[in-house]
Amino acid sequence: MDIEEFMNNVIARNPGEKEFHQAVKEVVESVQPVLKKHPEYENAKILERMVEPERQIVFRVPWMDDNGEVHVNRGFRIEFNSAIGPYKGGLRFHPSVYIGIIKFLGFEQIFKNSLTGLPIGGGKGGCDFNPKGKSDMEVMRFCQSFMSELFRHIGPNTDIPAGDIGVGGREIGFMFGQYKKLKNSYDSVLTGKGLNWGGSLVRPEATGYGAVYFAEEMLKTRNEAFEGKTVVVSGSGNVAQYAVQKVNQLGGKCVTLSDSSGYIHDPEGITGEKWDFIMELKNVKRGRIREYAEKFGCEYFEGMRPWGIKCDVALPCATQNEISLEEAKTLVANGCIAVSEGANMPTVPEAVDYFVESKILFGPAKAANAGGVATSALEMAQNHVGIPWSFEKVDEELHQIMINIHKNSWDAAKKYGHEGNLVIGANIAGFLKVADSMLDQGLV
Ligand code: NDP
Repeated sequence: MDIEEFMNNVIARNPGEKEFHQAVKEVVESVQPVLKKHPEYENAKILERMVEPERQIVFRVPWMDDNGEVHVNRGFRIEFNSAIGPYKGGLRFHPSVYIGIIKFLGFEQIFKNSLTGLPIGGGKGGCDFNPKGKSDMEVMRFCQSFMSELFRHIGPNTDIPAGDIGVGGREIGFMFGQYKKLKNSYDSVLTGKGLNWGGSLVRPEATGYGAVYFAEEMLKTRNEAFEGKTVVVSGSGNVAQYAVQKVNQLGGKCVTLSDSSGYIHDPEGITGEKWDFIMELKNVKRGRIREYAEKFGCEYFEGMRPWGIKCDVALPCATQNEISLEEAKTLVANGCIAVSEGANMPTVPEAVDYFVESKILFGPAKAANAGGVATSALEMAQNHVGIPWSFEKVDEELHQIMINIHKNSWDAAKKYGHEGNLVIGANIAGFLKVADSMLDQGLV
């Protein structure tokens, strides 16, 4: 197929949505070896159908702050693809949210969810609301207003949202309460719920743990392990926090964390009471990462990202496009041998190419961070049966899922002539299951 023509069409039909174009281009390029071998996908216009969401919902979210002032935000839910299961994917609350961000995340989610081996389709949602600096009551009023529209579009067999940037346990709680009030039904309609009311053990840990399990599998292919490795982590939210905990358990040393204001460098490692401090700082006090440096007397770099710090492994866990080509070159020059993407699309395309060409181990987001959504599906399974599982059982399932994703991505890359390229492997493995299901289900 003519990739340029295909992309020109996607850009014309979705103007200004640059993150979406970026995500589509990577998949379209990756699956070319499959399309060459199997003309049935092109004949059925599978890719053309995949880039068009099944449904897009955009809605008004009015709410009132503590001073009685009215605010209006814009909410989104993109129900992208339900070929292999009900729509599943998180909600992001961040001022940068617009339809292009939600579409890139929803599109990625289709292939990620397919890779988990579980029956979940792709979707994503969110709002341009900024939770930073808002009181708990303001966040509650906002969440209630958001759910007052969203509730009519979701359901336990239709669409099951979860958290993402700016949406953690507090926000899921407020939204679940409102859903239940409106529907009078204790549906498994959100994941990431509190443990007392239907949540699953290991769900908070799952994305961070999963990204580290995935890195561990990559390291094994070169007879390496986390023991004794220096690890650079970006972000300091949910994914970063538990990535650090798992690296610590495996004998590695995490020396950085960041937020949108800057990063801290602690050469001694973020362990023990320092890790506890981060949990309290970010999840309870909702403070800034600079306070860690003030408390423990290490360096803080305002307005910078941590990729200049020498490391063996890098775990980007903050946001999209946070590793530039220059930063990728610095990482490799400093001896970094593995990058596992905890965040979604954190590496710009040129930097991805550079990592691949440099033959370092590179775990793309849709494979490396799939542990979160996989454990969300395990939460749904527990809700449907009505019986919670132990921490050990969920963790074991998560670990096995990450091992399988690595193996399936590796095998697909090899089968289609790109051995060791997990970007191509993950895209192909994710694509095939969805594409075959779409063929089976006819022109819908
Ligand atoms: P959180 O809101 O818990 O944390 C986000 C972290 O990233 C914060 O430290 C935040 O800093 C930082 N950050 C956010 N936006 C920017 C920005 N524009 N520039 C620099 N730093 C930024 O989110 P999560 O940890 O849940 O999500 C992190 C990433 O992981 C996202 O890409 C998300 O899509 C992805 N992901 C999350 C999953 C989950 O289960 N939670 C599942 C799969 C992927 P600050 O506080 O200053 O904004």
